[in-house]
Amino acid sequence: MVALLEERSLDSLLVSDLVNVRYLTGFTGTNGACVVTGSERFFLTDTRYTELARRQVSDFTVVEVGQELLRDIAARLVGRAGFDDAHLSVRTHGKLAAAHPDLVAAGGLVEELRAVKEPGELDALRAATALADGAYESLRSDGLVGRTEREVARWIVRFLEDQGADEVSFPPIVAAADNGALPHAVPRDVPIPAGTLVVIDLGARLDGYCSDCTRTFATGPLPDSQAESYEGVRDAQRVAVDEVRAGISCKEIDADTRAVLESRLGIAFEHGLGHGVGLDVHEAPRLARTGEGSLEAGNTVTVEPGVYVAGEFGIRIEDLVAVTEDGCEILTGFTKELVTVD
Ligand code: ZN
Ligand code: ZN
Repeated sequence: MVALLEERSLDSLLVSDLVNVRYLTGFTGTNGACVVTGSERFFLTDTRYTELARRQVSDFTVVEVGQELLRDIAARLVGRAGFDDAHLSVRTHGKLAAAHPDLVAAGGLVEELRAVKEPGELDALRAATALADGAYESLRSDGLVGRTEREVARWIVRFLEDQGADEVSFPPIVAAADNGALPHAVPRDVPIPAGTLVVIDLGARLDGYCSDCTRTFATGPLPDSQAESYEGVRDAQRVAVDEVRAGISCKEIDADTRAVLESRLGIAFEHGLGHGVGLDVHEAPRLARTGEGSLEAGNTVTVEPGVYVAGEFGIRIEDLVAVTEDGCEILTGFTKELVTVD
């Protein structure tokens, strides 16, 4: 942290985004901020949370603040002070600048640290992913035909919570037939028919860490073109996972995967190939046309190519993987072979 301050020529840093605050301190309440200087680390919160902070926050001096959180923050900033421009409103920035004028935008600094996971974080991500695997196993045995997309989505939420998840990482997507052609489909109140494809994208949050996985099931024999498309996406996903390793460019792996799908099926997905996952379900790094930089060991990213045929069907296969020096560990355990359920 201190090294990052030096790298950016900062004397102090205000961290106000609660996810970043949780990452640095472990604090899970809903009001708190950190100020880090070259020699001191303060965690500021109000009276509702001082007890929780004393239990959760160890490496910071806990400061109880009154109504004037901003004034107390400003009093602890020193010299050239960084703030997170992506997470501070113009209004708050204005008030803060009035008290401490030497403010500079320093967005993405904590996110940079968050992108590389520690062993304990990887354990949490493995456990969150195992819960997601359990949901797919249950769907495989319980079946899908005749249930509505919404009912299945609600079942997923209950299942993951019953298995110990804090909550779902995002509202599950259950999208059959033509609804699957929308990458961000909303589950409908219509029964899932036999003989179609069903995209199911789900994740659990456990100890703050998210999982994010997609599997596409068949609900009976499929038209040849759909079965071939599934194999095309399966191959593209395999190629992408094989390419994941420290040092590969985020743009290149996205482009290579698109090229496989274009040559196999003549179409590729519009969304990015993948994204980092951690305390947030979407975080750095991004595997996309606009992706920056290269993967590093300790990054945890999704690999999720898809094919979307408007008015007909969609297919997406998404694994969560942890990048290593020479490859990756695939955290998602559920099979990627086409699974047919009733
Ligand atoms: Zn997903
Ligand atoms: Zn995803």
